[in-house]
Amino acid sequence: MRLRNITGSREIIRESIFVIHEPEKHKGNWQDIFGNTNPIHIEIGMGKGRFLMDMARMYPSVNYIGIEKYSSVLLRAIQKMEREEQPLCNVRFIRMDAEMIGNVFGMEEVDRIYLNFSDPWPKDRHAKRRLPSREFLARYDKVLKKEGLLEFKTDNKDLFLFALEELEPAGWKAEKISYDLHHDKDLMKDNVMTEYEEKFSSIGNPIYKYVIRR
Ligand code: SAM
Repeated sequence: MRLRNITGSREIIRESIFVIHEPEKHKGNWQDIFGNTNPIHIEIGMGKGRFLMDMARMYPSVNYIGIEKYSSVLLRAIQKMEREEQPLCNVRFIRMDAEMIGNVFGMEEVDRIYLNFSDPWPKDRHAKRRLPSREFLARYDKVLKKEGLLEFKTDNKDLFLFALEELEPAGWKAEKISYDLHHDKDLMKDNVMTEYEEKFSSIGNPIYKYVIRR
């Protein structure tokens, strides 16, 4: 998702209380930001933030951090946060490329990682940019707790099959796999829809999901 540039978006982001600026400075100390010792869950490529905010409302004793690469998209998430009647104290945003995740979180600082409808980067030469690639799994390996889980959802079958093939070489294993999430009673029990999930499932696309650990 890349929205057209919106005049003033960088200024709004700079002034937003929901955005953590210079996130590298908080490496190893993210609990201080929230003022508690609750677990930290991150969504990489959060888009407009619907999933993250719905989760934060449902699980107030989890701290949620949304990572988004583009200012124009992050701006939408900030605007959504500003419309909340009850402020969500357990949500923060970071604008950055997920490649930098190891500079921003300490070893095993994160309890769970969500990848939702990640960009597919269909050309082979761009495989390393795919968020479930072995290169990214190696980055997640450093910041995720040893017993931590990573959850990935997509409607893109090729990306999902690629993601499954990456697991073994990267040293991860699948705990749950679904090729049709919306007809999987077990996984649907606590499913929270993302913006893309709503859009693609409404036109009949099956949704794929895995939950993985090392
Ligand atoms: N997760 C949302 C959902 O399911 O509705 C948005 C999905 S959208 C297809 C993918 C998002 O990931 C975009 O907003 C894009 O800018 C962001 N993104 C892609 N690559 C990224 C990266 N390397 N670091 C951070 N964000 C990234």
